[in-house]
Amino acid sequence: MKAEIIAVGSELLTPYFQDTNSLFLTEKLNEAGFEVRFKTIVGDREEDIAEVFRNALGRSRLVIFSGGLGPTEDDLTRAAVARVLGCHLVLDTSILEGIERKFASRGYSMPDINKRQAQVLVGAEVLENSRGTAPGLWLEEKGVFIALLPGPPREIKHMFQTEVLPRLQALGGGRRVVRKTFSIAGMTESEVDARVAPIYKTYDRVQTTILAGTSHISLHLSRWLDPGEEPSDLIELASRIQEALGSAIFTTENEPIEAVVGRMLRQAGSSLAVAESCTSGMVGAYLTRIPGSSSYFSGGVLCYSNKAKTDLCRVPEETLERHGAVSGETAEALARGVRQVLGSAIGLSVTGIAGPDGGSAEKPLGLVFVGLSDDNRDLHIRRILPGDRNAVRERAAFFALACLRRFLMPESAAGKP
Ligand code: AMP
Ligand code: MG
Repeated sequence: MKAEIIAVGSELLTPYFQDTNSLFLTEKLNEAGFEVRFKTIVGDREEDIAEVFRNALGRSRLVIFSGGLGPTEDDLTRAAVARVLGCHLVLDTSILEGIERKFASRGYSMPDINKRQAQVLVGAEVLENSRGTAPGLWLEEKGVFIALLPGPPREIKHMFQTEVLPRLQALGGGRRVVRKTFSIAGMTESEVDARVAPIYKTYDRVQTTILAGTSHISLHLSRWLDPGEEPSDLIELASRIQEALGSAIFTTENEPIEAVVGRMLRQAGSSLAVAESCTSGMVGAYLTRIPGSSSYFSGGVLCYSNKAKTDLCRVPEETLERHGAVSGETAEALARGVRQVLGSAIGLSVTGIAGPDGGSAEKPLGLVFVGLSDDNRDLHIRRILPGDRNAVRERAAFFALACLRRFLMPESAAGKP
């Protein structure tokens, strides 16, 4: 069934804010059997909102508004919808009392402007907002279902789950989408495509897209199913892709690589310390985004200067003099040193030239060495990463984690990070 999202808010048309609500809505709508065919972002102008809504009514079975239900002058979604449908807005005293109570429970009295939020379209059902003041509205007009939902992400998410989804389940017609995502490290977009295109091209009912992010490639499969249909072609394609890409796939669960290596460290009962030069704490910050990382992550050292490398990570001065700060030897010494200093089972290090200055013919911009050390072996991996300073740093942090993943894998399974 065709659905359409209208995100209302002038801030969403500036360079500073992004419409993220529609991403959440699209995911949930797809799961409920709706295909999102149009998405519009419109500013806080009543006639513009009305124009977008008129178009939507003519082509979609479900129209979902996000935003424009706030208390201020620029919150115009209700008024625009009322104008197009030719219906009235009336003050609902029970909603008004509810809003007044919400303010009172926090020790405030309700400002007069919030009264607007108690206005409902005649004939609409009210959708409870337990996370904020603006209630949502649900109505049907000539076979088109319309939901007006609040803009703040935590409010719209909750309202969608509790109020909208149960209504949609009755409408979706039993169609649903199944998806599968592969996250891939150590290959370029074209390498991935060259390997899998001959396979996925033979599955014409599965949509395959390959996306190159800053640090890794993701491959998405999606397949719409009619009621009673099973995704057997998607399952078959997924297993052939898995076989073709092998250990280059670091997850099929849409999780970040730090979650993957975190799990590996935990399962191995191991511990990790990091020494970061060019990434200056990014690897540690990524690792500690994962709840419970304290059980395997000991800590790290930001060793930007040579002095920090020798004083804090025991890199011999001679190593720095002979090979330079950006070298495989220094990377290994850093990994070994930080492991010993922090008493961890594994040491991981990153050193590189993020630019824009400091490159040379022998050591170009983007040159990065990752060092790894445990009781059995010390090793380093060299890579030249593309992009400006920020991109090199971000890619270097990801690359370090990808190298760690290989280090933690049984040798027979490990390949290029
Ligand atoms: P509103 O309901 O228009 O008053 O929106 C209130 C706040 O919600 C805005 O200031 C934004 O911070 C946020 N917001 C509104 N629309 C969106 C959207 N489409 N995606 C993410 N955040 C949004
Ligand atoms: Mg707004």
